[in-house]
Amino acid sequence: MSRPAIVFDLDGTLVDSLPDIVFSFRWSFGALGLEAPPEAAVRAQVGLPLEAMYALFAPLAAVRDLAAGYRRHYAEHLANRSRPFPGVEVLLGALRERGYALAVATTKQTPMALRLVTAMGLDDALDHVQGTDGFAHKPAPDVIERALVALGADGRWMVGDTTHDVGAGKAAGLRTYAVTWGTHDAVRLRAAGPDVVASDLSGLLPALDRDGTVGGEDHRTGKGESAG
Ligand SMILES: [Mg+2]
Repeated sequence: MSRPAIVFDLDGTLVDSLPDIVFSFRWSFGALGLEAPPEAAVRAQVGLPLEAMYALFAPLAAVRDLAAGYRRHYAEHLANRSRPFPGVEVLLGALRERGYALAVATTKQTPMALRLVTAMGLDDALDHVQGTDGFAHKPAPDVIERALVALGADGRWMVGDTTHDVGAGKAAGLRTYAVTWGTHDAVRLRAAGPDVVASDLSGLLPALDRDGTVGGEDHRTGKGESAG
């Protein structure tokens, strides 16, 4: 039997990167002499592909230049304020010790995702970083499926901060853990029907224990999390 795997979204899940993303997103409007949309409106859409995000706020003719401006600016500023969320390094270490293969599956393109993972010091803690490079983005399962192929492992849980992550995880046949410290709030996440909704990632190890995926007993307590 192949190793069990946990797949994580990156932005808003492992890394508190939304302020840098929102800053670069809004900066690109100013660089083209356009008025930037409000911060909160941008933040609510993080997790969509970049071009799709710009299409919500700008004339279609400007989307390509805005996205190019973002990629230039963000590549230089992606670690200004971004940090791993509290406990992430310890959690990834504990999962490794338990024998899980660990991957990121993100809507970012792979080179940028690798750059952020490395800048955050998480590259050694992960077995694979899979970006969305020209194929269907979440909630399609493709990015998760590619990550699992690269790991050569058996996917068990998808962990993310948006309904797109929950949808992709379910479509890939995984259990899903939704965390509220990123883009979407608990009400919106619950509507997508994840197995767990929680305010942080401290419930993941207990959820795996209940799941019994690595020799653990199946003792479902349901403590601390709410089912979707
Ligand atoms: Mg995210």
